[in-house]
Amino acid sequence: MSLQRRCLLAPLLLLLLIASAFRASAWGANGHRYTNRLAVDALPAALRPLYAANRDWIAEHSNDPDTFWKNQSRLEGPTHFIDLDTWGLEAANNFPQDYQAACKLYGKEKIDKNGTVPWRIGQFYGLLVHAFKQKDSRAVVEISAWLGHYAADSHVPFHAAANYDGQLTGQKGLHARFESTMVNRQIKFEDLKARPAVQLADPVASAFHWLRDSLKLSTTVLAADKEAAAQDPAYGDAYYTAFGAKSRQIAVQRLEEGAQDLASLWYSAWLAAGKPDLPASDVHAGEAAGQPTHDPTLVAPATTQKP
Ligand SMILES: [Zn+2]
Repeated sequence: MSLQRRCLLAPLLLLLLIASAFRASAWGANGHRYTNRLAVDALPAALRPLYAANRDWIAEHSNDPDTFWKNQSRLEGPTHFIDLDTWGLEAANNFPQDYQAACKLYGKEKIDKNGTVPWRIGQFYGLLVHAFKQKDSRAVVEISAWLGHYAADSHVPFHAAANYDGQLTGQKGLHARFESTMVNRQIKFEDLKARPAVQLADPVASAFHWLRDSLKLSTTVLAADKEAAAQDPAYGDAYYTAFGAKSRQIAVQRLEEGAQDLASLWYSAWLAAGKPDLPASDVHAGEAAGQPTHDPTLVAPATTQKP
């Protein structure tokens, strides 16, 4: 490759890197902590003790997949979202739920760039079933924290839409205004209520369902942003008051549903493994909060294996 081409490519790669990094982080750090913490409260009594003993660790490590992406693996970025409407709204409703089928229809390269979060959830669900079967409490706790990140991301409206930052409608920056600034300003953990876990028949199909709901909600949030920005184009207090009046409830709903669906993934994995009896003790004295886990079973790219 010529030096000139390299010079042109370097800034482009950097931009792509920044764009992917931005897309990988969702809910801001607070929203992810809320989801993982609330999911523990949503578990049935038989499974709750192990999770309750490790609740702080599971909450603190909810952002590890983002840290992991930024520090260690560029492949991680697209495993946090899927743009369901890239090929139109009708295609979004009929998006192939099988990874190989999706690749056959749109091409592997495009599918991998377009986002793979539902299959990442299927992959981590499989890892969790295996950890339960092995009665490996430490792996259960680590995988559960990571799974929480992907489940929470799937409930963010802008993790399912091609217009993921309002960039297609002149509303750039909406991604962070909704999931970080508004959530940090207007939602406390105490505002959220746990909804009980249920058994899921097919985690990947469930993930697609959550993502289709996310895509629908993105339209409402886009409208709320437009209205609020018309009142306060500088995005100050007046903007957030108006924006929150129309979108705060959506964020609360998605955080609560995200926690319920995450607890349902944990619960279903435990049932699938034959309800193993695990000691209710604090099994995690390893990595400090904020540091990503380094279990090699957690780092396989989502798309190289089926769930
Ligand atoms: Zn993420």
